[in-house]
Formats: sequence, C-alpha cells, structure tokens
Amino acid sequence: MTTLASMNGIELTKVGTDEIEIPTHWYNIVADLPTPPAPGLHPGTGEPLQPQDLAPLFAMGLIEQEASTERWIEIPQPVRDVYALWRPSPLFRALRLEKALGTTAKIYYKYEGVSPVGSHKPNSSVPQAYYTKLAGRTRVTTETGAGQWGAALAFAAETFGLTCDVWQVRSSYESKPYRHAQMEVFGASVVASPSELTKVGRELRERFPDTSGSLGMAISEAVEEAAADPNASYSLGSVLNHVLLHQSVIGQEVLQQLAVFEEPQIDYLFACAGGGSNLGGIALPILRENLDGRQNVKIVACEPMAAPSLTQGEFRYDFGDTAGMTPMLKMYTLGKDFVPDPVHAGGLRYHGMAPLISHCYHEGLISAIAVGQLEAFEAGVLFARAEGIIPASESNHAIAGALRQARAATESGASPVIVIGVSGNGLLDLPAYTEYLSGNMSDG
Ligand SMILES: *Cc1c(COP(=O)(O)O)cnc(C)c1O
Repeated sequence: MTTLASMNGIELTKVGTDEIEIPTHWYNIVADLPTPPAPGLHPGTGEPLQPQDLAPLFAMGLIEQEASTERWIEIPQPVRDVYALWRPSPLFRALRLEKALGTTAKIYYKYEGVSPVGSHKPNSSVPQAYYTKLAGRTRVTTETGAGQWGAALAFAAETFGLTCDVWQVRSSYESKPYRHAQMEVFGASVVASPSELTKVGRELRERFPDTSGSLGMAISEAVEEAAADPNASYSLGSVLNHVLLHQSVIGQEVLQQLAVFEEPQIDYLFACAGGGSNLGGIALPILRENLDGRQNVKIVACEPMAAPSLTQGEFRYDFGDTAGMTPMLKMYTLGKDFVPDPVHAGGLRYHGMAPLISHCYHEGLISAIAVGQLEAFEAGVLFARAEGIIPASESNHAIAGALRQARAATESGASPVIVIGVSGNGLLDLPAYTEYLSGNMSDG
C-alpha cells in the first residue's frame, strides 16, 4: 500500500490511524482454547459463580461478557466513538532502536501511550463505564495502585456522566501526586487506602497502623462501598475476563498493522504482566493465530522480580483482595496477603495473574520471565533515546525482555521479528527515571 511516508521516500516506520480500522468486535480467546479455564468460585459457598452473584457489583452487560464463550462480541458504537479519540494506536518499526543495538533482529512496537491517560487502560474503562450507565447506575468505585487505572476510569466516568470514587494504595497516593491530580481533573474523588471511609479500611488501619497499603486492600474497600450502594458498580482494571476481552483491540490492530508492513509472521511477542490485561490484549488475538496453525509466535510475559506471580507463584484458587470479599479465582498467585516492596513498576504489583493468562501459561501456550528493576530502566532509557518515547516503567519490563532476545539473535546471526507491547508512556514516571539516572535506584 502507498503511504504518505513511502510517497515522500521515507522508509515506513509507523502504521497509525489512517491505514487500518478500529476493530468492530472484541475477541474472546475462551472460544478457541483447547481446554476450558476453571470457573470463579463464590467466596462464601465455594460453588461456581452464578451471574446473580456478581449482580450487586457489576452491570449485567459486563457479567455476560465475563462468562461468555462467544468468539466475537460486538463493540457498541458509543464505545467505538470514544475509542476513536486515540485508536487505532500506532505500530512502529523501531529502526532507530535496531540501529542503536546493532541488532540483526527486526523490532516493532505497539504503542498504547497515545490514549487520554497515557496507557492501555481506557480500552476497558470506557466500556465498563458505558455498560454501567446502560444499567441505570450512576456511580463507579475502584482501586488504583500507581494511579493509571483510577485515571482511566475517572476519564471514562466523566465521558458517560457517572461519579467516580477511587481508593489509591497509600504508598502511591503519597509518592505520585500528579496521578491524583489527573484523576481530580477528570472529576473523581480520590482517597488513600486503607481509609477511614470503609469498615474494612478501618479494620486494616487498626491491625496494620503503618501499612503502605496494597491493591488487595484497596480492592476490599472499593468492593465494600459498591456492594452497599445499589446505584454503584465496582470496576476492576485488570485480571477479569471482560477486561482482557476489551483489551483485545490491541492485538487485533497489531495483526492488521503488520499486514500493512507486509510482515506476515511474528517470531516473538513481549508484553509486561501485572494483572495481565495489556498482555492479554495484545497476545490473545495473536495466540489465536498459533492455535489455528497460521503462526508460531513465542509469547513472553515479562513480570517484575518484585511481584513474580507467574514465575514464582502457585497455581491455585485465591481471593482477588486482601479481605476475601471477592470471588475466588484460579490463578498464579503470591497469596492475597502479599505486600510488595514499593518498587516503581507500580502497575505490576498485584499478587495474582489473570485467570485466562494463568490458564494459558499453565497449558504451555505462553511463557514468562522475571526482570529486575535496573535492567528494566536501562532498557527503557535506551529505548527512549533511540525512539523518542519515554515508556511507562511497567512497559520497560517488556522492552528489557525484547532486548535480551534481540541481543541473542545478533549473536547467532538470526533475524527474528520481535513485537513489543509498550503499554504506556512514562511522563508521570519521570521521578523514577531521575532516580535511575542518578544511580540511586535499588534493584528488585
Ligand atoms: C496498569 C498498567 C500495567 C499493568 O497492568 P496489566 O493489567 O498487567 O496490563 C502495565 N502497563 C501500564 C502502562 C499500566 O498502566
């Protein structure tokens, strides 16, 4: 195809909004998995979850998606209209990075940092707010760690006229002031968790007076609040099936964009993994290519050494939160009481991994590595200097994984096609970059 770049004699390095369409459907991997994933269990009875168990917390449209086995689910037009603010997101050929590395590998990256809040998270916050509104509810509650999900939900709630209350993990609330400013600009109320506003928050503060908080604690608070208010829904930014479903726009676009680059086969795909949503979003439509025998992509989840749920956790049923109020999910978990070191990859510090990702990992359909913080930032700085984009601290783990592979390829003289999921930009992570550059960052 002729692009403006190629017409002007410039090598094609970017396929963005004009060359491809925003997907019309979300892709649900459950329809294509060789074995079905284990169901979620009711926290009280231990029986498989029924739709009505989730009704106090979630809008019915989302509950249906959570349990759906349909391969394609149509994206409602009002959601696509909001997606059009930033989608399709660009896929770049990282020619300058390749040159900086002197590598024989071909590197592409899918960049989700162009969204209104700078990460992939609005791909799910927008439909979650939409279905909540459709169900006649007026309020959403949620937790947030580093603040990206809170900001994404605040933006989406504002778009559909809902109020939004966010419990932010205390350590991040104190160390990342610009994220709660961002949430407040979009009209949300933000408190540090554990807080005095909920019963579970008050109990946690009494038991652990000095706690820096955790996602598990903040989830307990947001769930308690939503369950007590019939006008409210609870929203989760990762882990659940419907979140991974919404994120599938990413991988579908990658396949279309690589076709424009005339690149039919991917050899390696690297994405960072916290709760598993950006990984699922980019990887599961590509895993379908593997399952159908069209491709043989090695999919690598890159998690931080500070919260290595896939590489060091156990595959078992566990709660999603600290207080044990959520359904039990079969997942790789470090245990619901896990409180990670306050490392910078804030968005990757959850104790568990999405059940769909856990299932695929357990079945050998995807692999995983753990990356230390210093290696991640070294990779992120190299990437920024070559490509001009400062990646989110989470995304640096994926870049580091890809650099390992590119260097190995150079050594053996191979030219694999490597795709990196760059899940967000790092403009609100600059204090972490400063710490890294000044040599004061600890590994972890
Ligand atoms: C939240 C976040 C992550 C981690 O969450 P996943 O559900 O694992 O994707 C990664 N990157 C960015 C930029 C994030 O905001």
